[in-house]
Amino acid sequence: MATVAVPKFHKNFINGEWVEARSGRSFEDRNPANFSELVGIFPASTQQDVNDAVDAAKWAFAKWRLMPAPRRAEILYRAAEILVKRKEDLARDMTREMGKPLSETRGDVQEAIDMTYYMAGEGRRLFGQTVPSELPNKSAMSVRDPLGVVGLITPWNFPMAIPSWKIMPALICGNTVVIKPAEDTPLSTHNLVQILIEAGLPVGVVNVVYGMGPESGAPLVAHEDVAAVSFTGSTETGRFVSQACAPSFKPCHLEMGGKNIIIVMDDANLELAIEGAVWGGFGTSGQRCTAASRVAVHKKVYREFLDRFAQRVRSLRIGDGLDPETEIGPLINETQLQTVMKYVEIGKSELARLVVGGHRAESGNLAKGWFHEPTIFADVHPAMRIAQEEIFGPVVALLPFDSFDEALDIANQVKYGLSASIYTRDVNQAYRAMRDLETGIVYVNAPTIGAEIQLPFGGTKNTGNGATARLERPPSTSTPNGRRSISTTQTACSVRRSIPPITADRKNRFVGLDVFFCFRDL
Ligand code: NAD
Repeated sequence: MATVAVPKFHKNFINGEWVEARSGRSFEDRNPANFSELVGIFPASTQQDVNDAVDAAKWAFAKWRLMPAPRRAEILYRAAEILVKRKEDLARDMTREMGKPLSETRGDVQEAIDMTYYMAGEGRRLFGQTVPSELPNKSAMSVRDPLGVVGLITPWNFPMAIPSWKIMPALICGNTVVIKPAEDTPLSTHNLVQILIEAGLPVGVVNVVYGMGPESGAPLVAHEDVAAVSFTGSTETGRFVSQACAPSFKPCHLEMGGKNIIIVMDDANLELAIEGAVWGGFGTSGQRCTAASRVAVHKKVYREFLDRFAQRVRSLRIGDGLDPETEIGPLINETQLQTVMKYVEIGKSELARLVVGGHRAESGNLAKGWFHEPTIFADVHPAMRIAQEEIFGPVVALLPFDSFDEALDIANQVKYGLSASIYTRDVNQAYRAMRDLETGIVYVNAPTIGAEIQLPFGGTKNTGNGATARLERPPSTSTPNGRRSISTTQTACSVRRSIPPITADRKNRFVGLDVFFCFRDL
């Protein structure tokens, strides 16, 4: 099988050309399953590179916004076709730089494929509105208009899916793009942009600057010619991004951290709930914004659930994601490993009961990477730090409860509000959970992970500032006498986003009885 041709030295992509960082500095992209393997070297960009990229995007916007949306869509459609052809190679590249197993990176690429086709379709559906006027001889209508240059900042845990959630909607609406991907996973963005170029994207429409957050992300957010920002990452960085946008009232879309919960009622199908907790908690080594890092279990079934869950988790195979047998890959980097180890110590000091795992995994080849054992703490109190703070690793806190109301309290008493799930056969409880859980997403009889791109996605509280999985827009303004009216707001560059759908690659993990989803429309 052919592999993607990957030169070791990569460059920024600005104004249709691959260029070095002006500073001449670079950084390394290493395989977290084997840190002696260098995946690539990327430019460490600074303000000057960002300025060049924004200038190029601004220049390109003048033409791109006037290209008919169905023509823009043709380019996206061609890109989707290339993504399909290269799916396997792209997934392998992603596993090498990010670590998650191939079954998951295939899903990540599939997400990019789905989003690209979907947005290509939207090119013929960028509807406006005609509305009746209250005055005689006056017509009122609204049309969609792009915002301009949009700045996109992405994390490392969905290295191609998240850039595609942001780039494709921005492009189809006629915006131009400067993207700053996470420093841990630049190769996947490189591969995505390479495909857009091959699909015929005009010069300057997409520009990429690689580098560290403060040096290359911050200047992008603050740049006066960036009309809107879309950010996915930690709540801490998101707060900074939000504050940087505030002085100029720049629209700013934020997707941030989570502390998601699975509630297991006493009438739940336990087999289904255990599978959900395993993949919700430990898929992507717990490094998902939607990871089920809390599992609250009714006391009537707590003992049985704990025993079976622990047994299942002990059997998970840790290893290099390129090995088809691997179920749990490494953490992204040493810092993340240290964070997980720190939280294990915090859990112990809080007197939570360590039942499974709790150590760095370093037997044999695992010592070459940033691996950590899947870890379960039982008898966790809701106020403990391991039940309140986002760990972003393979650590699940099990919390016993007595009643449905108590479970809801536990669920809602965190500062995040992304995803929650309930396992029950009682339709009344299911509907109450959908109504009363303070999260953007609620699942019933399915884990907290696994959405579909055509559904809304977003969080409440410290997780985010609203769902954006749609291209609808605010109400129009109108002008008298039937003149064309331009009401131009395109919220956060119309970013449509979602976590990966349950694709064929991962579907089997969730197959069970009575699975259905509910998405709250924020
Ligand atoms: P991070 O906040 O450290 O980094 C995210 C991006 O922001 C990176 O590209 C980084 O370089 C950049 N950045 C860092 N400092 C910056 C600054 N001062 N100005 C501008 N940009 C800056 O997050 P991460 O470690 O890459 O990702 C993990 C976090 O992302 C977790 O908290 C996770 O929950 C969250 N996440 C959320 C979602 C969601 O949809 N809600 C999805 C994926 C990940």
